[in-house]
Amino acid sequence: MSDNINTNQLIACQLCDALYEKPKLKQGQIVKCTRCGSTMAERKVNSIERSFYWSMAGLFFLIPAVLLPIMGVTLAGQYHHASLLDCILALIDRGFFMIATLVFLFAIAVPAIRLFGSFYVTYSFKFNKLKPSLLYFFRAFHHLDNWAMLNVFMLGIVVSMYKLLDDTELSINMGLLAFILWLISSTMAASTLDQDYIWQKLEDEFVD
Ligand SMILES: [Zn+2]
Repeated sequence: MSDNINTNQLIACQLCDALYEKPKLKQGQIVKCTRCGSTMAERKVNSIERSFYWSMAGLFFLIPAVLLPIMGVTLAGQYHHASLLDCILALIDRGFFMIATLVFLFAIAVPAIRLFGSFYVTYSFKFNKLKPSLLYFFRAFHHLDNWAMLNVFMLGIVVSMYKLLDDTELSINMGLLAFILWLISSTMAASTLDQDYIWQKLEDEFVD
């Protein structure tokens, strides 16, 4: 008997650590742990297709979310519009470089990169343009998962900073709507993406 266990053939329950032999899943099938009942894996239906279109929608809303006014501000009796970019520039203007950098990174850059990433991956799968570099790309892309949803938090910081800096009256604008749509599309693009399927396909294809 061999002592070597092929770990690729096993799947562990994330909740109770029970180990099972990995089943081959068909679309729409779910693997549940018989010990604790939690869902261990799921083969999402039309994952590539759905994630591709959600990514596209997300990229579409990206520019208006950054450039359209997020809020209306009354400053010294005059009414101004401020986009997310304006807010960042205002922060820099007042010497809050650190916060401006964080907001730029986590409210704009990271979510935008994630979106481009999921678009690129789903595009490659949808149009059968798989190449070995995708494996490395997807490994890097995978790490960005930890930073999801931080943009909502950052938007909150921007708005409250702005409100604290200038005693302003706020009103909600089109930019915020675009931001919310951008957020929904990115969240959907990420949640419809079947990472397990992509790993498996890439490994089957490029790892011996
Ligand atoms: Zn379990």
